Amino acid sequence: MASKEVVREKISNEAIRILDVSKVMAIAFAEIGAQGSPNYIALISDFADKVLVLFGDFGYEAFGTRYTEDVDIEEIERAVPFLKWFRGTSIETTKRGNFIVDNEWVHLDAMAGNHFFIRACLLERFLKRLGERYICEAGIEVMTDMLSNGAEAHEEKRNGIIGAIVGDIAGSRFEWHNRKSKRFTFLKGEHESRHPCRFTDDSVMTLAVASAIVKWREAGGGSYDALSAEAVTSMQEFGRRYPRAGYGGAFRRWLGAAAPEPYNSWGNGAAMRVSACGWVGRTLDEVKAMSRAVTEVTHNHPEGIKGAEATAVATFLARTGKSMEEIKEVVVRDYYPLDFTLDEIRPTYEFDVSCQGSVPQALEAFFESTSFEDAIRNAISIGGDSDTLGAICGAVAGAYYGVPGDIREKAETFLDGHLLKALNDFERTFAKDFAAGGE
Ligand SMILES: [Mg+2]
Repeated sequence: MASKEVVREKISNEAIRILDVSKVMAIAFAEIGAQGSPNYIALISDFADKVLVLFGDFGYEAFGTRYTEDVDIEEIERAVPFLKWFRGTSIETTKRGNFIVDNEWVHLDAMAGNHFFIRACLLERFLKRLGERYICEAGIEVMTDMLSNGAEAHEEKRNGIIGAIVGDIAGSRFEWHNRKSKRFTFLKGEHESRHPCRFTDDSVMTLAVASAIVKWREAGGGSYDALSAEAVTSMQEFGRRYPRAGYGGAFRRWLGAAAPEPYNSWGNGAAMRVSACGWVGRTLDEVKAMSRAVTEVTHNHPEGIKGAEATAVATFLARTGKSMEEIKEVVVRDYYPLDFTLDEIRPTYEFDVSCQGSVPQALEAFFESTSFEDAIRNAISIGGDSDTLGAICGAVAGAYYGVPGDIREKAETFLDGHLLKALNDFERTFAKDFAAGGE
């Protein structure tokens, strides 16, 4: 990609009016008494052909001061509502430290009253490039450079388990109406088809496991037995709330049991729900231990444990920046031979609910892909248990490519409030870990 022109312009009402707020990628903000430029704000925007840096000393209303220039601060706050926190407050009462502002934004405390806000999708690369440098001034420089050299700000977002959920929803309408082709409308909605997409057990259980991990970590982590206990509670709770999401018979009985016991399952339910472990585990060993803990409460057959672990490990490797070749090497060495192509198996592949008969196929769908959406299309194109293949493949593909914003947005329209809350709680709790990567 050719590098973009960087345009620096003094902040003004006119400049703010023409600013497309959705393209603001970072904001540097310094308060009175801060080192560097007091009352200083810089908004860094990413356009197709240029990077715009609006900057100025404009007397933000911190410490009770007034604006020194006639700038429409409300216009800026429409772009970045959380800036209101800083109006008329002193730094003492302002929330300090680095934290997630919402799913989109991360706050970095730049010390001495300086703050930097950045789109979460750019955080990882930003911190890598920033290194040890002082954040406010150097941050503007790094950000401008990243955007002008094509940081794909809108395209990429490493954003957790939504990949599995998208795969489930996209595959749901093909589970009982297999489509042995990659050509279909992605995420067809309620008014677009007689067989519209919906969320199924794969999304519900993915979120149940994610919620269990949130509770486990909030309670201090602790033993993997404690994680297993949280997983049982959470899966039963979610399962009973969504009784018709499409569970197998044995799992349905387990959901209803007062003292649920594992039932030696090798079913692919083990693999479709496990991706949160790949996002939260900090090392490969931790990912494996977490995967086992949430799996063995039902799928304690060796093939069940293995199918889940292969999925969690591939997700972990993908999210921590390993290449597709490196991930494949680990899968082939430790889990499945992958001695087939999708084209070879497509004509004869049939519905198969075992881990050993669907996890390798779902992973191969990822290994033959060129993008997140392409991976899901691959998974659906072989037929079979389409939503579960989609969920397993989507978990890894989402971690590898990131899930494009428009796909995520569409997928979220299929979820209800309870599931969205579970998704948000998980992402909020672990967003910093997502950005930090593993090992
Ligand atoms: Mg399903």
